[in-house]
Amino acid sequence: MGDRPSRFYRFLLSVMGPAQLGSLDAPPRPAPARVDICRSCGQPRDAHELERLADHTASRCPAGPAQS
Ligand SMILES: [Zn+2]
Repeated sequence: MGDRPSRFYRFLLSVMGPAQLGSLDAPPRPAPARVDICRSCGQPRDAHELERLADHTASRCPAGPAQS
């Protein structure tokens, strides 16, 4: 009767596998892409035109909020 629990446990492992391995293979959720949103127009910074000035970089908002 001593080896019965461990055999049952091994059977469970062979069927389901250790829970920790599963989380390693498949992370709960992918890291969200970091998108910088402009505070003035609410559009991503990628859509902006960057202007390099003498002392800083200014971003120019696109023609306006995209409305369709
Ligand atoms: Zn903007």
